[in-house]
Amino acid sequence: MTCDYFALAAPGVRSLQPYQPGKPESELRREYGLSDIVKLASNENPLGPSPRALVAVREALSDMARYPDGNGFELKTALAAKLGVSTAMLTLGNGSNDVLELAARAFLTPEYEAVFSEHAFAVYPIATQAVGATARVAKANPPDHAMPYGHDPAALLASINDRTRLMFIANPNNPTGTWLKTAELQGLLSDIPESVIVVVDEAYGEYVDPAADCADTLRWLDRFPNLIVTRTFSKAYGLAGLRVGYAISHPVVADLLNRVRQPFNVNSLALVAATAALDDVDHLQRIQALNRAGMQQLQEACRRLGLSWLPSVGNFLCVDVGRSGREVFLALLKRGVIARPVDNYGLPRFLRISIGTEAENTRLIEALTAVLQE
Ligand SMILES: *Cc1c(COP(=O)(O)O)cnc(C)c1O
Repeated sequence: MTCDYFALAAPGVRSLQPYQPGKPESELRREYGLSDIVKLASNENPLGPSPRALVAVREALSDMARYPDGNGFELKTALAAKLGVSTAMLTLGNGSNDVLELAARAFLTPEYEAVFSEHAFAVYPIATQAVGATARVAKANPPDHAMPYGHDPAALLASINDRTRLMFIANPNNPTGTWLKTAELQGLLSDIPESVIVVVDEAYGEYVDPAADCADTLRWLDRFPNLIVTRTFSKAYGLAGLRVGYAISHPVVADLLNRVRQPFNVNSLALVAATAALDDVDHLQRIQALNRAGMQQLQEACRRLGLSWLPSVGNFLCVDVGRSGREVFLALLKRGVIARPVDNYGLPRFLRISIGTEAENTRLIEALTAVLQE
């Protein structure tokens, strides 16, 4: 190759770190020749999707030759009724990842900046740099804080300057599991200038225990027109493979987000599956209960092993393994268990473990116990 394409790429693209996904089960099978594999690496729903979603997808398969409804009328109508908002406040995305990128594309240019916290979700820097904007990373809470490594509202606020157009807040955050309490988030939103769009990423919202005092942000949309709340069908609804998520915002903001999306960004199967899944309250309650029990199972095991963990209201636990998290991750792989190292998030001693079924958690706990004794 005589042409240096790397040099031709946009500066933000040249310096961006690609997203590192959880290791797929099929890859471990290929590389290690293992068959009985447990994957607790991508915060997926161990129960799978609602049976209603599966029926809806089967019925829609034969329509695959047609373009999907580019406005997602039925899903938006169902979401609007469920959330008590108007359809004009909704933007559908190819996963909520898509909606995060739409926010960056609609509001950022190379002159502007986006603020987010250290140890925050890895898509924020990617979305920011891909449009040539500058990422400003706010210090997270110190390790001895009640919410260790979590978002620090004061640091986020102090990172805002004249060039700030966007702030990303993951509530709860991945990979830490930490969250901002209602009063903290409300205080922060009140202090942020109206000209800064604040994206509150609630990918794990359905898992949050009401006792955790995690804000009900939809109630604030009237008061904070600069607020974008994002949610997904990938986590509690078990549709990660189909890619569908959404944003709720002021209609003016929603209109801007909708202008920059691909005309058919959510496929026809994802649309019908999400609409059906939304209706299946029992299935959602089953996964919530399973997650609560699994979270206890995992925490009890950590206690026995003398390991500490970060507070979490998601479907995962970030555990301090007291040594290189990546080494523990590699040792677990040999035993057919996939967890997630988070050294790329600045947390080299931690391992992020998704909550699985009771049997999956037991496999993880047995493997982890053996690895720590090696
Ligand atoms: C998983 C996750 C998402 C989104 O995933 P999608 O599959 O694109 O909806 C968004 N934010 C956080 C913090 C996540 O952990």
